[in-house]
Amino acid sequence: MAPRTIYETPRPAAAPGEEIYTSTCAHNCGGRCVVNAHVKDGAIVKISSDPRRWTPEMPPLTACVRGFGAAERVNHPDRLRYPLRRVGPKGSGEFARISWDEALDEVAAQMRRIRDGYGPAAILDCSRSGSTAVVHNRAVVQRLLHLFGGCTELWSNLSNEAEIFALRHTYGSRAEAKASGREPTDYVNSRLMILWGWSPGDGTFGTNNPQYLHWAHERGVRIVTVDPRATRTSHKLADEHVPIRPGSDAAMLIAMAQVIVSENLHDQAFLDRLVLGFDEAHLPEGAPAGSSYRSYLYGLTDGVVKTPEWAEPLTGVPAATIRRLAREFATLKPAALHCGYAPGRTAYGEQFHRAAYALCAITGNIGIPGGNSGCSNGTGYQGVKRQVASANPANARVASTLLGDLLERGRAGGYPADIKMVYSACGDLANQCPNVNKIAAGLSRLEFMVAHDHFLTPTARYADIVLPATTFWERSDMHTPWSGAGHYVIFMQQAIPPMYECRNDVDICADLAQRLGLEGYKRLPDIEWLREVCDGTDIDDFDAFRQQGLARLPAPEDPVAFAREVRDPERHPFSTPSGKIEIYSTTLAAKPDFYGLGKIPAIPTWIPPHAGDPRHPLELISPKSRARTHSTHDNQPVLSRADKQDVWIHPADAAARGIADGQRVRVFNDRGATILPAHVTDRIAPGVVSIKEGAWFTPNAAGDDTRGCANVLTEDRATPAGAPTYNTCLVEIAPA
Ligand code: SF4
Repeated sequence: MAPRTIYETPRPAAAPGEEIYTSTCAHNCGGRCVVNAHVKDGAIVKISSDPRRWTPEMPPLTACVRGFGAAERVNHPDRLRYPLRRVGPKGSGEFARISWDEALDEVAAQMRRIRDGYGPAAILDCSRSGSTAVVHNRAVVQRLLHLFGGCTELWSNLSNEAEIFALRHTYGSRAEAKASGREPTDYVNSRLMILWGWSPGDGTFGTNNPQYLHWAHERGVRIVTVDPRATRTSHKLADEHVPIRPGSDAAMLIAMAQVIVSENLHDQAFLDRLVLGFDEAHLPEGAPAGSSYRSYLYGLTDGVVKTPEWAEPLTGVPAATIRRLAREFATLKPAALHCGYAPGRTAYGEQFHRAAYALCAITGNIGIPGGNSGCSNGTGYQGVKRQVASANPANARVASTLLGDLLERGRAGGYPADIKMVYSACGDLANQCPNVNKIAAGLSRLEFMVAHDHFLTPTARYADIVLPATTFWERSDMHTPWSGAGHYVIFMQQAIPPMYECRNDVDICADLAQRLGLEGYKRLPDIEWLREVCDGTDIDDFDAFRQQGLARLPAPEDPVAFAREVRDPERHPFSTPSGKIEIYSTTLAAKPDFYGLGKIPAIPTWIPPHAGDPRHPLELISPKSRARTHSTHDNQPVLSRADKQDVWIHPADAAARGIADGQRVRVFNDRGATILPAHVTDRIAPGVVSIKEGAWFTPNAAGDDTRGCANVLTEDRATPAGAPTYNTCLVEIAPA
């Protein structure tokens, strides 16, 4: 009999006088856990989570500290309560209360004026991932704007665009990021796991992934971490931690491949059967002689053999370590390489992911139990689909990371339009895109801006009209696991009525659609809409699901992505042009400047991320905070104690600058400066400093940020694949 969906009630018994509602955080947080609201007298008074004991077969969906911080957020005294109109200078935070009718009439009138005067592409959609639920997500604004004639859209993923691009060009167009990894239940089948820039102990990366890693480690799986920081995962779990210089990851992976191939440890049978472009005998027709990966490793065209000794000065990793790790990875089969997103957020980040996938192919570790493709997401089956918008009729697209430059230069910079208006809902891009000072200046020049949000965020401060939105506790929705990590759906039960005058994002947009004379924006009430989304899916009892809260779906047959393709490539070819794993990309060979953002070589290649800058000699990385989801939660004083905001600096770098642990320091470059406490620690590589991203931009009179907003320092630059480059950033530090 086919496995069935199981409905569960993952909450404790209610105490007298309280009711309990099950939901999950709507944010782009790295997990998807059970978060229960205990409601008394119409208010959320306490949060609990899934109370069950952990087992690998049926793990509970236990919340992280941010989930438990949900009560502090929903009841926060700074919640936006009423529609607001700006009355002071842009960014000043000076607003006055107005009615919903006044606010929506003005937004509708401005939308019409700007579309009719400048064309639809003059409206920029800055909505994002503050809510990623099935109905309430950025598509609520996209659908409105697309019905209205279109807009300029920010297309690239700020987390993992480099990975998305590399997956498509290596494993094929059907290789979705959410479905190209493996089940965490398979971790235990590996003999070796290399976690490369991947720290579920900090970023969660799938509810239960940290527990499965721990479980596998206890059962003898050797774990090695490669990262500029000894992360919480490295610190708690790794048998070995290898510190590496930011942006140099591809060089180390290429050198590992060179060791494996030169010592004949590679899996030639796997390569012959399934891979394009490893050696000269397996290049596509028309490819130039010497263009295979093997030729590159041996330096046949550039004269540089990519040995560990070549990689050592680039990466800061001793050649002996690179050589030993390469041999281990090739001989301890099955071995799994798990890439995080952060090394891809560097100047040529797609080369990191492509070099990682090449290493997995060379060792024959793809599509087999205990092996991995190099992608750390799950295998993707999630039952229900998030509501999305139709195509943008204005067909105007800009890589998200270029927001600051788009606002500054518009058409003069080669962009599709001069931006006159910004629409922002469930997003805080002024804080989360790189080069915040440039973005703030750009937002100040707009003719009009509207934002929906829960708080006056750094982005909302620049709006002309601010609309108070409900949180996920004040509306019904559904949500699926983050990044394909698991197979379940959580019904997000509405726990309390909308607070103050807050309204659902989708209803705000429906009201605007009506004012603008647009038909068909919202056909059904929310519950009926959710019921319709579940029709024909494995949610075969919507009412049980809605009432109980959790639907566990059957897991896919294969726990590892690409198992079918590897088992039976004749019937299930890879979805690349050649039907094979393309170490040599036929698409990139034909069109190297794929997005018009710079050339991308046909094979994984080391490209230095920057030329250095003696005035700013330290490399800044900006990883995740456990107390925030990007910028969400930064205004919660209790939750923020879970992960202090500071700048990590190595003792040698601190001593050279006269900096003591805990001292306030100024981190700066030509784009900006931020002031925060120093944390002097040998858990970060020399020459590297680290500030957790997401702190709210809070400038002082001199223009220096005072809260540790890393993006005042990062550059609005895209990789050739359109990915952000947050982790290629040079800074200097001095006592404040
Ligand atoms: S991982 Fe995400 S869904 Fe889970 S509790 Fe934390 S913030 Fe909420």
